[in-house]
Amino acid sequence: MITPRLEIDLDKIYHNATTLVGRLKRLGISVTGITKAFRGAPKIAQMLQRAGVSGLGDSRIENIERMRRAGIDGQMMLVRSPMISQVDRVVAAADISFNTELDVIAALSRAAQKTRTWHGVVLMVELGDLREGIMPRDVAKAVQTVRRFPHIRLKGLGSNLACRNGVSPDNANMEMLSALADQTDEHIENSGFIVSGGNSSNLSWAFGGGKVRRVNNLRLGEAILCGCEPLHGRHIPGLYRDAITLVAEVIESKIKPTKPWGTLGQAPFGQVPVTIDDGNIFQSLLAIGRQDIDPDGLQPLSGVTVLGASSDHLVLNTGSCQLVLGAEVSFQPDYSALLRAMTSPYVTQTFTGNVVAAVPHPGPFIAPCFSGAA
Ligand SMILES: *Cc1c(COP(=O)(O)O)cnc(C)c1O
Repeated sequence: MITPRLEIDLDKIYHNATTLVGRLKRLGISVTGITKAFRGAPKIAQMLQRAGVSGLGDSRIENIERMRRAGIDGQMMLVRSPMISQVDRVVAAADISFNTELDVIAALSRAAQKTRTWHGVVLMVELGDLREGIMPRDVAKAVQTVRRFPHIRLKGLGSNLACRNGVSPDNANMEMLSALADQTDEHIENSGFIVSGGNSSNLSWAFGGGKVRRVNNLRLGEAILCGCEPLHGRHIPGLYRDAITLVAEVIESKIKPTKPWGTLGQAPFGQVPVTIDDGNIFQSLLAIGRQDIDPDGLQPLSGVTVLGASSDHLVLNTGSCQLVLGAEVSFQPDYSALLRAMTSPYVTQTFTGNVVAAVPHPGPFIAPCFSGAA
């Protein structure tokens, strides 16, 4: 088989998605399936739709266009503020985009006018993590302005936390979002007004008895693909965390000392050079590197340790066994490693599992946690 590769188990992703959709539905929360980590791969996107997501979302218009070209319909959201240079593409491919700049919304309105259509807008609110968002005190005014654009429909409010400063979703910031929703849209019941509270890092809050109030949507990528919540890296019970496996191949396998020799300069990529002598080890090199993965985000599946990585090599201590040349070593990538692997042209994607329309729902299943997991 081709290496390096990502082995993507569609059945496990389906299980994760449908489980999260079901649990959140009980709280009155719909799930937007976020497709950016797999660049909108149509097979995975379709599978998320079958699992019952209310729509698909991506941060890149290219991925949304790819899904549209593949014939995927249903609601699609651009969850990053559109580039003003891309408004025509955004209006053509996405039903809704997340916005924080009135000039961009004005440009979206003009783009929609040209094609005699309208475009949906979710206004993102800043709740303290200091990435995107309109400051809460400015929301009412922005809402008024947005409502005046002839080819724009205000579809809701949203927020995003834990992506820049690690600010956690909690009752205080989610209540602020709910209060802004109250102020924006008084028809609390059945209005279809989206109140999108955040991403996978909202799950601890939502499942931990958080006060959901007006929050009726979450946008989930990592939790579906990796089976864990990003705030604490904790496994979500009942989800598979091994839906996606990375496989790379051994290109050198030798007995080597642990301690480097010679004059030490600065190690590349901010790595700390080894200074302790642990004697000789079985060291293997894999043909994969920083171009393809984040080495800190790889959990080896069997008794090996990642020692370091350069652009094209991953260095392993293989413990008590010497790997043979051509051997394949598997890893559980975390979201950061996965993002890079999925977007590396050098990493092939292979699909297993076969989700068809009526999949028997797999029973409760707890995947074994890999070491280091909570
Ligand atoms: C990537 C992204 C998400 C999904 O985040 P996960 O942690 O993968 O669930 C949600 N919202 C926005 C705006 C995003 O960019």
